[in-house]
Amino acid sequence: MARWFKQRNAEVPYFCVTGSPVAHSKSPLIHAAFAAQTGRRLAYEPVEVERGSLAAAVAEFHAFGGVGMNVTLPLKEEACRLADVRRPRAAAAGAANTLWFDQAGATVADNTDGTGLVQDLEHNHSFPLAGKRVLLVGAGGAARGVVPALLAASPASLLVTNRTEAKARALVRSVKGGVAVDVLGWGATASAAVDLIVNATSLSLQGALPPLSEALLDDTTVCYDMMYGPEPTLFMTWARQRGARRALDGLGMLVEQAAVAFELWHGVKPATAPVIAHLREAVTAGKS
Ligand code: NDP
Repeated sequence: MARWFKQRNAEVPYFCVTGSPVAHSKSPLIHAAFAAQTGRRLAYEPVEVERGSLAAAVAEFHAFGGVGMNVTLPLKEEACRLADVRRPRAAAAGAANTLWFDQAGATVADNTDGTGLVQDLEHNHSFPLAGKRVLLVGAGGAARGVVPALLAASPASLLVTNRTEAKARALVRSVKGGVAVDVLGWGATASAAVDLIVNATSLSLQGALPPLSEALLDDTTVCYDMMYGPEPTLFMTWARQRGARRALDGLGMLVEQAAVAFELWHGVKPATAPVIAHLREAVTAGKS
């Protein structure tokens, strides 16, 4: 008996986002907007899948003719493990947010979060990463997911700080390549300001701030919170009050990572600016 999916009209390609909880996900809205923009018919729905059950859910999705699946918390590591083929971005991160099936029926995994972040910073906010000193706050799934794309954008250096320092150390050890990468102790004082601080912790969700030394920030520093909401996050407010050049949230990253997934599945890159504007309006009005 089917546990997660229903038989559907086979003429309408079937997509979903899995996670737990998942009802709040904006992915159905974003993919519906991309589909309308590119003249495609598709079904895309949120499906609650509990930790430990993703492999069974993916098999059922495939049996029901599903085409592509996005994966959110807490299933990204599971998604990467279960795949038959891991694209380099997923393999490097050990986490995947986009799955699909190849001609032979193999499950392919990719991670579009990092490309989404870099695209949002460089394209939407005109902040090229080349030569920049970057501080990544957090070493969870989101932080690991963005490191390969951040490094591919050739920053001068990358510092990682995390409450559980062993995870920051493991993340730094896993990095290969020419960029100078190091760990900064949690709450440690910095010797100089950085150009970009990315908050990849879930602290904003808890209404809390990471203990960052004010010496890390000056009036040229851009601060980016992966979280977003109707109001600026606490981290954004903290950054503005300390004179940061800009304080940005993760709404653009969310739309950009979805656009990369859409392109992987449909072979066409949708325009993100109108979808970001629409989502911003909906989130600000508290409608979405
Ligand atoms: P994880 O649960 O994998 O990691 C959580 C991170 O936050 C860890 O670094 C953890 O530190 C830290 N943390 C949690 N609680 C505390 C605390 N009380 N004090 C200090 N540090 C804490 O979550 P994800 O990495 O998947 O997600 C992180 C954030 O990124 C979420 O807010 C999520 O919504 C957002 N996100 C946004 C995306 C977008 O497209 N805009 C995409 C993906 C994620 P420790 O290791 O010590 O536990």
